[in-house]
Amino acid sequence: MIKLEYIWIDGTDKTPQLRSKTKVLENDVNFTHNVSDLPIWGFDGSSTNQAEGSNSDCVLKPVRLYDNPLEKNSYLVLCEVWNIDDTPHKTNTRFKLYELINGGDKNHEPWFGFEQEYTLFKKGEFDGELVPVGWPLDGTQPAPQGDYYCGRNKGEHIARAHMESCIKAGIGITGINSEVMLGQWEYQIFGKDPYKVTDDLWVARWLMEKICLRKHRVVSLEPKPVKGDWNGAGCHANFSTKAMRGDDGGVVIHKSITKLATKHNEHIKVYGYGNEDRLTGKHETCDINTFQWGVSDRGASIRVPWQVAKENKGYLEDRRPSANCDPYLVAWRMIKTICYEEEKEYGL
Ligand code: ADP
Ligand code: MN
Ligand code: MN
Ligand code: MN
Repeated sequence: MIKLEYIWIDGTDKTPQLRSKTKVLENDVNFTHNVSDLPIWGFDGSSTNQAEGSNSDCVLKPVRLYDNPLEKNSYLVLCEVWNIDDTPHKTNTRFKLYELINGGDKNHEPWFGFEQEYTLFKKGEFDGELVPVGWPLDGTQPAPQGDYYCGRNKGEHIARAHMESCIKAGIGITGINSEVMLGQWEYQIFGKDPYKVTDDLWVARWLMEKICLRKHRVVSLEPKPVKGDWNGAGCHANFSTKAMRGDDGGVVIHKSITKLATKHNEHIKVYGYGNEDRLTGKHETCDINTFQWGVSDRGASIRVPWQVAKENKGYLEDRRPSANCDPYLVAWRMIKTICYEEEKEYGL
């Protein structure tokens, strides 16, 4: 027998969450390893904030297949949510990205590199209360930030187990590092296909949840998991188009920054719930109400890496998305602003 983990994104208010359920199938000739041959499935949308109880059926359409690195004879089946009348469900942000790209010029070749930050928690001394890993169990504060980033942090076994799992699953992970706050880590997911990279990030998040469960830890994508003098958790979106990567791409990068500045509020709207707690102008962020860009500037909204400035081509880093953002919406908004809106709208 084989097991198929059907994974989808639910309708939780403000911050949609991952859901999954398992289908057991006979491992016969019908299983071709081709996602389009997999059966559609359904679920009770009234239990995921995606439907009313009186009309609760939602449809799962498989869109990408991965090996399941956590179990033998098992596959991960990422799905889109559709209505029974064969229209995309209103929570189906992946389809929104598809519609945008399908309706526009396909020669931009957008590449994304997402830096997913996250915080690991464990049970503290008080009943059920969670504290970040490495923190004192009695609720007091550890030594201040300074030595944890790429240094002596906690939870490395989880970060490494997750990296191995992503590699085995075929997810485009390009690296990991421990972060500035104790208990906080990052992994990077890169891709030259905007659907694959965003799918990969959602499946990487699913794997992280499951790995943490097995190790009696909890992962949080809260933008500001601990208030006070502690870094928040973001999901920097590194972005380039063919024109940015080509000779004199710097010109295109600067035009794009002008567009991003004009559309700042539209971007913030889809960059994650609770992001105002993180984008304070402190802790390597730019204030949520301000747009700034700079070369090597980690206090800017958009950072141009120094090599990019030097070579006058490459990519830009949008530092605004929070750890809990929906990468389909972030990709949608960045491509829409940078690739598909008329330059005259920006006076360019
Ligand atoms: P930092 O922590 O210095 O901001 P990272 O190394 O964590 O940077 O992340 C940079 C990300 O940018 C990586 O995922 C990398 O694959 C990605 N990247 C590199 N070049 C490009 C490019 N041309 N277009 C899009 N993403 C890119
Ligand atoms: Mn990084
Ligand atoms: Mn980081
Ligand atoms: Mn970064």
